[in-house]
Amino acid sequence: MTSKGTITLVHLYPREMSIYGDLGNTRCLAARIRRHGYDCVVHDHHPGMPFPETAHLLLGGGGQDSGQSRVEEDLLAIGDRLRGLAADGTPMLMICGMYQMFGHTFLTHEGVEVDGLGILDVTTRGQSTRMIGGVVLDTEFGPVVGFENHSGATVLSPGQRPFGTVRVGHGNDGVSGTEGARTHHVIGSYLHGPLLPANPAVTDALIAPAVELATGRPFEPEDTDDRLADEARTRQIARLLAT
Ligand code: GLN
Repeated sequence: MTSKGTITLVHLYPREMSIYGDLGNTRCLAARIRRHGYDCVVHDHHPGMPFPETAHLLLGGGGQDSGQSRVEEDLLAIGDRLRGLAADGTPMLMICGMYQMFGHTFLTHEGVEVDGLGILDVTTRGQSTRMIGGVVLDTEFGPVVGFENHSGATVLSPGQRPFGTVRVGHGNDGVSGTEGARTHHVIGSYLHGPLLPANPAVTDALIAPAVELATGRPFEPEDTDDRLADEARTRQIARLLAT
């Protein structure tokens, strides 16, 4: 098949911020982009490196509080660029630690303040107890399943849209019933797993705007065989709803 275009995917801080299998999101996206007939270039961005000139889709994962402190300076240095990309409709998926840093601030349980970009209108505070376990959400992409493990409790400002509502699990803070946040095509979420392989509707929702940015044309998906992903998601959801 001749390529329908080239999508450049930028993974932020894969060394410091990519735990609980979050690298799987990058692999899943690259594989699915290719399955849809497009070429995919994956660019790893490390602290201190120049940010690539071309970026159609951004990914970031979870990390320890210490990992977040290690990337803070670089993230703030490239902040204007990232805010510009987000405002221009660039899709981004930021999981857990990077979700927190796409908000305004993260105050750790030890009282360390980690500054964020403010792309998502949220703030996070570390708690003494961790929120751990399977999560089932209702989202505009349908039911979504994943796994959370965070001490940070995230509060959405009024008007900030969540990623989903919680059916099983803690979500943002264990009390609001919301999970994650979404602005333009930027999604922040606590869901590891990794999130994307079992939730192809979310994967395609990230790919579509990236294709439009890269090619200037609408996303032309191929028929994909999602039976395995659908079964993985459905079975996990059934198991979690039964507990
Ligand atoms: N350090 C953050 C927290 O515990 C993020 C954890 C993570 O990314 N898994 O809240």
